[in-house]
Amino acid sequence: MKSIFGTDGVRGIVNEELTPKLALDLCMSLGTFLSGGTVAIGRDTRISGEMFKNAAISGLLATGCKVVDVGIAPTPAIHYYVRDATDAGIIITASHNPREYNGLKFVAGDGIGFSREAERKVEQIYAEKKFRHVEWDETGALSTDDVIQRYKDGIKKLVNVEKIRKMNFKVVVDTGCGAGGVVTPSLLRELGCTVITLNAQLDGTFPKRPPEPTGEVLGDLIALVQRSGADLGVAHDGDADRVVFVDEHGSFVNEDVLLAICAKDALQERKGVIVTPVSSSLCVKDVVEQCGGELVWTPIGSIHVARKMMELGAVFGGEGNGGLIFPKHQYCRDGAMAVAKILEMLCEKKMSQLVDEIPRYYNVKDKVKVLDKEGVMEKVLGVVKGNVDITDGVKIWHDDGWVLIRASGTEPIIRIYAESKSEERANELAQDGIKLIEQVS
Ligand code: MG
Repeated sequence: MKSIFGTDGVRGIVNEELTPKLALDLCMSLGTFLSGGTVAIGRDTRISGEMFKNAAISGLLATGCKVVDVGIAPTPAIHYYVRDATDAGIIITASHNPREYNGLKFVAGDGIGFSREAERKVEQIYAEKKFRHVEWDETGALSTDDVIQRYKDGIKKLVNVEKIRKMNFKVVVDTGCGAGGVVTPSLLRELGCTVITLNAQLDGTFPKRPPEPTGEVLGDLIALVQRSGADLGVAHDGDADRVVFVDEHGSFVNEDVLLAICAKDALQERKGVIVTPVSSSLCVKDVVEQCGGELVWTPIGSIHVARKMMELGAVFGGEGNGGLIFPKHQYCRDGAMAVAKILEMLCEKKMSQLVDEIPRYYNVKDKVKVLDKEGVMEKVLGVVKGNVDITDGVKIWHDDGWVLIRASGTEPIIRIYAESKSEERANELAQDGIKLIEQVS
């Protein structure tokens, strides 16, 4: 059976791949899997969010689950609520994907995304359509709750609020018309910042920029940071689990560098384990070694990182895409928590200084179209030599860098990631990876 779950839940183009019927059946499957209990449901700002939410609620109620509708909220605010208050959660979001997409993501009762095993069980029920239909007087009840203030209060407990407030930072925040608009601007004000908002209106057409906050689409934010003389620029993806920053000069902060900055900060507070996917930069490895920590690599995907962090009692973890996990708060990517943490660091140093302290590397990403990606990957594994890591795909370590060859989860392509101290060498390593694929196909 082909999996309907991708790396981060079920995603698709609205009313083509992802229909209300699919949402209904999937949530009946979830309700059957849970056989009762309470499920929180929330969403980002996408136009189809209300449609999918209502289908999902119907499916859950029919199986006897109670449902708490928490409205529009950032993904991490819903995780936080689920961990403390319900048996599971559903988030209607397509995160950073383009406007025409939406998706459903399941959260387990411990506040972490569903494991692959749990997803497979739900999928099995979905395929067999053996749903739990409760008696007429046992269908679930629907209530509402507010998750926003609870989430912000949780964040403020973990940073030095008084110290941050005294700094009177000026911050420009671009929530991209996504769910971050209901949390980050007001959190910043509560932390004593002068806040300039950009795209803070909730609008699922994402009229000003795509939901993915890459450096290329943040021109307005960069210009406003420069013009206003702000200390920091902040931008979220559509569901605000990810965050990226712009320094006080208006330079976009590379996401791998951001990951290293946060790892360093965590290790300076307490020595321990840092967890990150095999695709992350060597700058993270360098920083962890400098600070006397231990680095653990995982497969790509934030759920792998979160579950490994919990298992090892890690002090910090995250991905090189602005997905940062602070275990004292919770085990999921936590955009607004990262904002508060960075402000705390800015009490000591400017953003550009924090960036300058991290070693620089060059990264190259490429891809090759292949029909039989699994077959090709198997052959690649058969011919590679040297220091090889197979945590996820095939990663070949060299003295001066690495190349990772990995099949895409959703498309008929193989991705190549390479990194080195020089741009030329990084390109060379990526070319080696491409040649290897061509050689075996
Ligand atoms: Mg996201």
